Amino acid sequence: MDEIIPQNLLVTDESSFRSSLSYSNNNNNRRLLNISFLPNTSFFCRKTSPTYFNIHRLPKQSLLKLGGKKVTDQIVPCVRRAHGSGAIFPLSSAQQRLCSINYHHEGGVHHWYIIPTCERDALQKAIGHKEVPICLDHGQLLVDPSLFAKHHIRYHRVTQRPKEFVVLAAGTLVQGFAEGASWSESINFALPGWIEEGCASAATLQCQCNNPNNYSPNTIDVTIFTHDLIEKYISSHLNNGTDDKPTTLEGL
Ligand SMILES: [Zn+2]
Repeated sequence: MDEIIPQNLLVTDESSFRSSLSYSNNNNNRRLLNISFLPNTSFFCRKTSPTYFNIHRLPKQSLLKLGGKKVTDQIVPCVRRAHGSGAIFPLSSAQQRLCSINYHHEGGVHHWYIIPTCERDALQKAIGHKEVPICLDHGQLLVDPSLFAKHHIRYHRVTQRPKEFVVLAAGTLVQGFAEGASWSESINFALPGWIEEGCASAATLQCQCNNPNNYSPNTIDVTIFTHDLIEKYISSHLNNGTDDKPTTLEGL
């Protein structure tokens, strides 16, 4: 079984989701997914007080700031619409395997299957493509969840309700379904692991699927992110409380 395409759209829980899966090899699955994307769209205010969390500022506060405006300006929010019960989010990862944050604005509960990047090889093996790897990143597949257990692939099941965030590490693969019509929104960002654990370089390899599902016309030049610059970023932004000397005891 290579591709698992949903046909029945009345899905309200995991068991009905699984029973709705079809083993068809029909590649014209986009219509059946019952979702649509609105790139460069957001329901959050762009201007808020600096004291409040603002999804629009996230890329500029992340490692991506090392690339300057040229990089951060191309990272934009994307609104996702699930049109009804059983809408399918096929297997995918964020653009260039970046980290991402996803906010559920309103509507039906989202059920996520989250596969860490360290399980990619095991997943490739499980779906039976040893010589020519199949694309896991660009919405080409929906994997029957029973396959994860069968092949000892570690994954997380997360239920996301309105007003809740899901934050995904670099390289993470996700798929899922919605219980009902909904609106959600995501934006990408980077932490040092995106470069240092090889996610960024792996993402630059040419994908054979010819369906990049990529809403940014530009690819981030990852050579900007040198080891020295990353070390500086870590020491100035991420090192709070990790020194040997506890900062809370200073002055005592
Ligand atoms: Zn692909």
